[in-house]
Amino acid sequence: MFYHSTRAKSELVTSKQAIISGIAPDGGLFISDELFSRPLDMQAALTWSFKDAAYEVLSRLLDDYSDSELAAAIEAAYGDQWDDKNITPVSDLGTFKLLELYHGPTCAFKDVALQILPHLMKYARTDDTNIMVVTATSGDTGKAALEGFANVEGAGVCVFYPHGKVSDIQRLQMVTQLGDNVAVAAIEGIFDDCQSAVKALFADEATKAHLAENNIRLSSANSINIGRLAPQVSYYIYAYAELVRTGAIHLGDKVDFCVPTGNFGDILAGYFAKHLGVPIEKLIVASNENNVLTDFFQTGTYDRKREFHTTISPSMDILISSNLERLLYLESDGDTELVSKLMQDLRDVGAYTIDDALLARLRATFEAAYATDQETKATIEKTWQETGRLIDPHTAVAVTVAGHLRENSDSTRTMVILSTASPYKFSADVLRALEVDCSGMNGFACMDALEHLSKTEAPKQLSSLRAARELHKAVCGPDKIAQFVSGASARIFL
Ligand SMILES: *Cc1c(COP(=O)(O)O)cnc(C)c1O
Repeated sequence: MFYHSTRAKSELVTSKQAIISGIAPDGGLFISDELFSRPLDMQAALTWSFKDAAYEVLSRLLDDYSDSELAAAIEAAYGDQWDDKNITPVSDLGTFKLLELYHGPTCAFKDVALQILPHLMKYARTDDTNIMVVTATSGDTGKAALEGFANVEGAGVCVFYPHGKVSDIQRLQMVTQLGDNVAVAAIEGIFDDCQSAVKALFADEATKAHLAENNIRLSSANSINIGRLAPQVSYYIYAYAELVRTGAIHLGDKVDFCVPTGNFGDILAGYFAKHLGVPIEKLIVASNENNVLTDFFQTGTYDRKREFHTTISPSMDILISSNLERLLYLESDGDTELVSKLMQDLRDVGAYTIDDALLARLRATFEAAYATDQETKATIEKTWQETGRLIDPHTAVAVTVAGHLRENSDSTRTMVILSTASPYKFSADVLRALEVDCSGMNGFACMDALEHLSKTEAPKQLSSLRAARELHKAVCGPDKIAQFVSGASARIFL
């Protein structure tokens, strides 16, 4: 099967080529018209472990990898670096189910894809060209990419995060990263500035040519890379099978998934799962006060010209949700002209509008709503009081939205909340939500207080940051990204 750009079908590539490139040369995202041609056997899925589910998904979506390549990549990615043997366990949270995606080395769901992506890239390389992985992060992707790619032969990684817009712990996780092939810089701006600058770099022929002369090419670890999305489909399948195995549902029953959403990657993986045969009724797009997606699914107009809010769920502080482009392609039956036009409108005037027919198609699967910081904090507190469990602010956004939806409907479908990060990554805001005064306390003091209060232990990956040195101190404007990447490439590879 072949991939091509969401904006033109003329150039066909294999999934390996798509993963190496990250983004299509015309600025579109790689997509295939054959993604769903081999549906999953959901009866068989009941016997699958997480790794089995990963194998079944990847062998369908990335079909040019050999069985042994996939098996080796899966084995390396989902081993002892996870603190739960089931990788993505499912638990109860009141009347909801919680899909726990934070058991990996960096305590956020990005690990599911970024633990395997370096291996997928390794098998996709056909020559000795070095790969520089350039990543914009709203807080969690950065560390997960650093962790995945640190000291990988033939690869380097550059991470750009918005200065002052990530949590204390998230920042420390990135700036203390060890490894000879890593570089990290804070960007003066918001996440969208980082992401736009990175996308512009991928279209910067002069820089790319210069790197190519030195045997270096760029790739991406953001969810614009299909190698990020494909592995994330696995946990939707695994979660559904778990619900059947534990007797929560019968095989064939439909369920809803509520997903705290930023770049629209995680929820798009759910859409892939649905079209591969997982019985999913609704996918619920849960946003914070940066509610551009809520408006879009309600009105059909995507308008990024709005006030940007810095919230307590920083990994979702995003106004340009890149992966929506793939959904528009798929739901318009592959209308590349339409997608090109909409993306041009977004770039030129900061907004686009889809017609009613397309909006109706999207709304058949997606519902969207948002939660304010105040509501999110109230949910953290209420969840703690009622269930004795701590949830992080991103998860709490989804719990808030799911709660509102269920209050206003008589649906009895099982609702699965994607729990995307450990609460310890956001100790200060979780404490504040629990009405603990933490003024003047640093990230570690907050972590201690949270341990004390909840009688749980912070993940070792986070508490061990205490002893780590801050190594990466660069701060620069978004216009300096190309220069930074060139410098880092020279240092790492030449
Ligand atoms: C990245 C992230 C999200 C948003 O996921 P997208 O794929 O960007 O929509 C939500 N929660 C956490 C904790 C994240 O790190």
